[in-house]
Amino acid sequence: MTGMRIEEHFPLENYNTFRLPVKTRWFIEYDNEEELLRILHDEYFMECAYMHIGGGSNLLFLNDYNGIILHSAIKGVGMVEETGAAVTLRIGAAEIWDEIVVLALSRGWYGIENLSGIPGECGAAAIQNIGAYGVEIKDVVEAVEAYDRNSCEKHIFSNKDCLYSYRHSRFKDESTGPYIVTHIRIRLSKTPSPALGYGNLEERVSACGIEITPSVVRETILTMRREKLPDPAQYGNAGSFFMNPVITMRHFEALKAAYPGIPSFPAGDNGVKVPAGWLIEQCGFKGKSQGEAGVYHKQALALINLGNASGQDIALLAEDIRSAVAGRFHITLMPEVKYIG
Ligand SMILES: Cc1cc2nc3c(=O)[nH]c(=O)nc-3n(C[C@H](O)[C@H](O)[C@H](O)COP(=O)(O)OP(=O)(O)OC[C@H]3O[C@@H](n4cnc5c(N)ncnc54)[C@H](O)[C@@H]3O)c2cc1C
Repeated sequence: MTGMRIEEHFPLENYNTFRLPVKTRWFIEYDNEEELLRILHDEYFMECAYMHIGGGSNLLFLNDYNGIILHSAIKGVGMVEETGAAVTLRIGAAEIWDEIVVLALSRGWYGIENLSGIPGECGAAAIQNIGAYGVEIKDVVEAVEAYDRNSCEKHIFSNKDCLYSYRHSRFKDESTGPYIVTHIRIRLSKTPSPALGYGNLEERVSACGIEITPSVVRETILTMRREKLPDPAQYGNAGSFFMNPVITMRHFEALKAAYPGIPSFPAGDNGVKVPAGWLIEQCGFKGKSQGEAGVYHKQALALINLGNASGQDIALLAEDIRSAVAGRFHITLMPEVKYIG
């Protein structure tokens, strides 16, 4: 296996936004689909435990990784189709998501401006169904190109076949097949139509006092994100640590009787979504720390590395939060972050 990057005992500090000083036994980075296929067919590779990562902004390493960490270096943005109204782009999995948002805005292609400032790579963005400020990537994904890890066959999944739901897709679920994503295709509109319905976004954008354009929406969202989310350069973190739980209407009504201020969002038939950050804050964790692991003082949903935390420290704090929330609200928080090890 030549031509690709292969490193042994490789430090992953720059590949996990918690900035945990873990190492992987092997790190392999491939540049194209042919190299990926060579890796997948390699006998040594087939015997080893392995995992594919992107930028590591949604991962929590509990230990050093005793196997192979695979990383794509497939780059490139191509035009699949252009009409008077829209464009369809084919993007390599290793492209940085936020750079695509910037590129799209500079070319007058709209639909992803609300997803500004989300760390990570494009492959993972489509796997995770990233979402923010009322928009999810599933709203623009046309197809995802992926290799089945076992059969090594290539599949092109339509949006419908990706089985998208809140922060979820078929690619996150081992039962619907272990896939390696090489490219994503997204369709963007040439007509701006800002989506401002989320929270106080419209108020914040209007307060800029200038014409509402997708670029103004981006800048406003970047400001709002900076106000509440920790910058991984300052404190290692992985964004929202837990998903917002969806509970039954009955359960919600019982909670509302006890906590009249409980915030909520509708979540389909008979379901109510409750902000996990609010639940954690109510349990007194906001701004608190346990050793080197902490809860961000501006947003209780973000767990942070105060400097020298281990993955275990962060996981222990997360466990304490989960038991406190379960004890008080009878709600089980599920991590959005993926634990490794
Ligand atoms: C400060 C901060 C803010 C954030 N804000 C948001 C937000 O607003 N909304 C949101 O949705 N998320 C948010 N996140 C989470 C994170 O940015 C997203 O989950 C992102 O899509 C992860 O991308 P990544 O490249 O870092 O993937 P990683 O964390 O490396 O991997 C994520 C998952 O994808 C898999 N994977 C990655 N690449 C491939 C591939 N090519 N083939 C197969 N599997 C692959 C991994 O195995 C893993 O399961 C935030 C994170 C941080 C640190």
